[in-house]
Amino acid sequence: MAKLQAAHNRMFHNVFLCKNCGAKRKIDPKKILEGKISCRKCGKKKFRAMKKK
Ligand SMILES: [Zn+2]
Repeated sequence: MAKLQAAHNRMFHNVFLCKNCGAKRKIDPKKILEGKISCRKCGKKKFRAMKKK
């Protein structure tokens, strides 16, 4: 089952939510820190990491 767990982690890894509109994006965290990514819906550059509840 370890393999499944790893796949699950990968699915949620690098997924960020727009702080403004909540749109999900799968992005390299480095690019967020560099400010290169903007939201497709609203164009804002503020993102937060998606966390499991
Ligand atoms: Zn947005």
